[in-house]
Amino acid sequence: MRESLKNKQERMRHILKRLFETYPNSKCSLEHTSPFQLLISTMLSAQCTDDRVNKVTPELFKHYPTAITMAAAPVDHLAELVRSTGFFNSKSKNMSACAIALMENHGGEVPADLDALVKLPGVGRKTANVVLGTGFHVPGLVVDTHVIRIANLLRMTKQKDAVKIEFELQKIIDKEYWVMFTHLIIDHGRAVCIARRPQCHKCVLAEYCPSVLPEEAIRVRK
Ligand code: SF4
Repeated sequence: MRESLKNKQERMRHILKRLFETYPNSKCSLEHTSPFQLLISTMLSAQCTDDRVNKVTPELFKHYPTAITMAAAPVDHLAELVRSTGFFNSKSKNMSACAIALMENHGGEVPADLDALVKLPGVGRKTANVVLGTGFHVPGLVVDTHVIRIANLLRMTKQKDAVKIEFELQKIIDKEYWVMFTHLIIDHGRAVCIARRPQCHKCVLAEYCPSVLPEEAIRVRK
């Protein structure tokens, strides 16, 4: 039977409460000191772990901390600095082009606007929402691989497309929790609801998750 929107919203409130209790220090794990650095770090996190990104950005931002410095950087040097994050040729070209576009169109500042952000080279909707939510505290719902997987397991959506999921979740989750929802789900995806081996027996969401493994559900509810 199809679950009503009202029911999903109610179930989501319980899920969020449990996640907040379980991960009280949940936050963006990319280290940054400005919206520009968050933008670049998020671009680098494509196909790469946040830990790996955090290992290269101190040196990268020591050389090029701002749009004006990165716009003038040799692309080869950018590539060398971010080599270990993978896809370093395209990432370095995008970083350079993005910094140049910020200088040309936004006075070197990162715009706090989704439409303007997605026009920047190498910036997709996911990156833009990270920057809006974490960099500017503008509600943005980031849909990454953890969110796609776990939102499906929780049957909040049947979609696999990130943008469609974003719009569906926006109807289910109160706006004030959009940013935290992603941080919490990422923490849960790393710690418990791990891809291909979800630890349902120790999951705080088991009671609210239609995908909980049946034998585990019995153990959880005892
Ligand atoms: S009950 Fe299992 S499938 Fe559901 S969220 Fe928890 S770990 Fe993931």
